[in-house]
Amino acid sequence: MKKSLLTVALGSLVLAQSAIADTLIHAGKLIPANSDKVMSKVTVIIDGNRIKEIKNGFQKPTKSDTLIDLTDSTVMPGLMDMHTHVTNEHSGMASYLEGFKLNEADYALKGVVYAQRTLDAGFTTVRNLGDAYNSSVALRNAINKGMIRGPRIYTAAKSIATTGGHADPTNGRAANITGDPGPKEGVINGVAEARKAVRQRYKDGADLIKITATGGVLSVAKSGQNPQFMNDELEAIVQTAKDYGMTVAVHAHGKEGMKRAIKAGVTSIEHGTYMDEEIFGLMRKHGTYYVPTVMAGNWVAEKAKINGFFPELVRPKAAKIGPLIQQTFANAYKAGVKIAFGTDSGVSAHGDNGLEFKLMVDAGMKPIDAIRSATYNSADLLNVLDDLGTVEKGKLADLVAVKGDPLKNISLMQNITFVMKDGKVEKQL
Ligand SMILES: [Zn+2]
Repeated sequence: MKKSLLTVALGSLVLAQSAIADTLIHAGKLIPANSDKVMSKVTVIIDGNRIKEIKNGFQKPTKSDTLIDLTDSTVMPGLMDMHTHVTNEHSGMASYLEGFKLNEADYALKGVVYAQRTLDAGFTTVRNLGDAYNSSVALRNAINKGMIRGPRIYTAAKSIATTGGHADPTNGRAANITGDPGPKEGVINGVAEARKAVRQRYKDGADLIKITATGGVLSVAKSGQNPQFMNDELEAIVQTAKDYGMTVAVHAHGKEGMKRAIKAGVTSIEHGTYMDEEIFGLMRKHGTYYVPTVMAGNWVAEKAKINGFFPELVRPKAAKIGPLIQQTFANAYKAGVKIAFGTDSGVSAHGDNGLEFKLMVDAGMKPIDAIRSATYNSADLLNVLDDLGTVEKGKLADLVAVKGDPLKNISLMQNITFVMKDGKVEKQL
């Protein structure tokens, strides 16, 4: 008798709590990001980790509700950066020696710090496009378990390259101490190795695949733009990835490498420096996303001016390729290519991610489109629109805010004052 009474009492207590203990956010402005629309003076009601309702006006909280006053702010979906490297950060010449000095734990611990900076900058979700030792897989798991603070991470783990290509981890190093990396380490030659590399990443716990279809700026190798995968290798990568439910992100600067990759059916082109009208047409036809990373272009162009910052093989590539990305982005936007937000943070400093918004708007993008590229479009690219990317009933409560109106002053995106991830307040200034 006693026991059943207690059960009833506990049951009604739980019921009563879930019925009334919500979190109410009074938002001066709300950018739901499911369209161009902006709402004023609304209440976002959060139950647990989901958005329960959005109501017009500032609703009065009940006694047990938590009220968050953002009446002087603009609330948006949690920001999403589709190109980061959360377990590392470039520091010039010293970075080229790290491969000889650092172990797995070093990258993991850096990741703990950079993940926090990323979250505090308002980025509640990132795509991690390349790491060392699968350190971002461990980082993702620790964040998901709530052991450390950080964004939701969708990671490609170690990038896949071809021998001597961008992301071959042994470029520029003495052969007798580096060996000959293969598919396990992310270096492939031929179809069989391409398949093995994808399957290895699946086994390692990666969420998606990243390949380097052309030369790159920061690797110690001569060309920053030559094609580095054959058609059959690209097709093997894309097809194998598809079998394992993984998408394929492609680093590319030169036109030929991009063309082959887009035709093979990859999901996104990163950087895309030498894109032209033909490439834009192909991307529209295949529905390929463009992730511009203007910040990385500007960063390497700036650093190339400093004597001794880069190795001599890298410096001219940085000076030539870096400054072109912002204009390419402007052209792609005009051409109607689908654009998702990406910074390549880890080249530039983690936590500075919000600067990309300003660079996009400076290049001619409408502020609302820049914000939607980092919310709706990024969620679409990740295939997670059911849970993320907009502020709507039923979605996960990932929300950020800035004081004032970012549509009038896009630089405010570099000063995020409120961050909620999964219904939990992570930052409030
Ligand atoms: Zn990158």
